[in-house]
Amino acid sequence: MKFYSTKGKSELVDFRTAVIKGIAEDGGLYLPKDIPFLPEAFFKCLSELSFHEIALTVTELFANEVSRNDLSDIIQSAFNFPVPTVKLDENLYVLELTHGPTLAFKDFGARFMAKMLSHFTKDEDKEVIILVATSGDTGSAVANGFYNVEGIKVVLLYPSGMVSKIQEQQLTTLGGNITALEIKGTFDDCQRLVKEAFADQVLNNKLNLTSANSINIARLIPQSLYYFHSFGSIQNKNKPAVFSVPSGNLGNLTGGILAHKMGLPVNKFIAAANANKVFPDYIKTGTFTPAPTIKTISNAMDVGNPSNFERIASIFLYDAENVRKVIFSDSFSDLDTYEAMNEIYKKYNYIIDPHGAVGYLANKKYSEDLIEDSISIILETAHPAKFSSEVKKATGIEIEIPERLGECLKKEKHSLVLSKEFNEFKSFLLETS
Ligand SMILES: *Cc1c(COP(=O)(O)O)cnc(C)c1O
Repeated sequence: MKFYSTKGKSELVDFRTAVIKGIAEDGGLYLPKDIPFLPEAFFKCLSELSFHEIALTVTELFANEVSRNDLSDIIQSAFNFPVPTVKLDENLYVLELTHGPTLAFKDFGARFMAKMLSHFTKDEDKEVIILVATSGDTGSAVANGFYNVEGIKVVLLYPSGMVSKIQEQQLTTLGGNITALEIKGTFDDCQRLVKEAFADQVLNNKLNLTSANSINIARLIPQSLYYFHSFGSIQNKNKPAVFSVPSGNLGNLTGGILAHKMGLPVNKFIAAANANKVFPDYIKTGTFTPAPTIKTISNAMDVGNPSNFERIASIFLYDAENVRKVIFSDSFSDLDTYEAMNEIYKKYNYIIDPHGAVGYLANKKYSEDLIEDSISIILETAHPAKFSSEVKKATGIEIEIPERLGECLKKEKHSLVLSKEFNEFKSFLLETS
């Protein structure tokens, strides 16, 4: 299996190179050159396959230079939590991607990438240092994936005072091979420091630095797996199915599109957006125009220039009409979101988080005009306990904190405060190695 760059100016690479490089030399994102089609027999027995069996069959097509045994071990340790699809009514389901260690869907991509990276670097004699700039959720999912992995050290950089209390606890209480740096600056400063470190000769001669960024192909592929599994677990095979995906950087959606291209018979994907509506505007007008970010209560979707748009455009051959055939999209306000959270609670006795609620709204909008009966699956991307004050405000309910979140809230925070000056960061890196 070869991977190409969406910018088209770099040569084709194998899976290992794509994972280690992360981003292509021409600045493009990697995609499989030929997306493999899964055999009919796979879809016939989908409902009988476990998540691990599906994961092995699918990832093997892309990571064919990794042995079956190693891949199976990676899958077992990356996806060590349940992935239930919960029924709300005859035609409405919620796919809960919230049962991983950080209670968000980022666990799927981040854990698989972490296990893959450590597999590919395990024979190196120098300790590998993974640098991650995070604005919140991604960092803890990545750090969790590398936690206690021998030969790997993770350095997380997060903007001081700009992440939520829960997020900060998740970033700063792991300890062990994970170090959290609290940077006196913005998320952009954190990203700049990481970039400067990769460009610094002295650091690179002395240290084995690697990135674990969000556009790595090893994060995308696992995000296609739960679409197969969820589709297989829906009992009614006679109705068309749609997936509604709360979207920001469009990585989750691109995972679904990958599954579709591999043959998953889904009628429509719904890209559900909050007030950051660059993608719905593209679907409407055919023009993609990045915009400044707007702050909302579904904050993991506050993205003004979604990086995976490049992949979507490339897969659909840069033709908006092709995209429209498969993807519907719309945007919703915070007020709509609160109302939807309450409606779902009243109607189905189900507590959903603000991201999932946007997914619900977009599905409702899409379904209004449908003539035929169809089944909708909404992706729930974060556990509602991470948004307890929004849940309280919308429904009046005081939500119970799951044990794995409660544990980390009790632990003591360990972070090192640094300024946003590169030299300070550089000295830290030189001293820790
Ligand atoms: C990251 C994230 C999203 C957006 O996913 P993309 O792949 O960036 O579109 C949605 N919900 C939650 C909770 C997230 O953490």
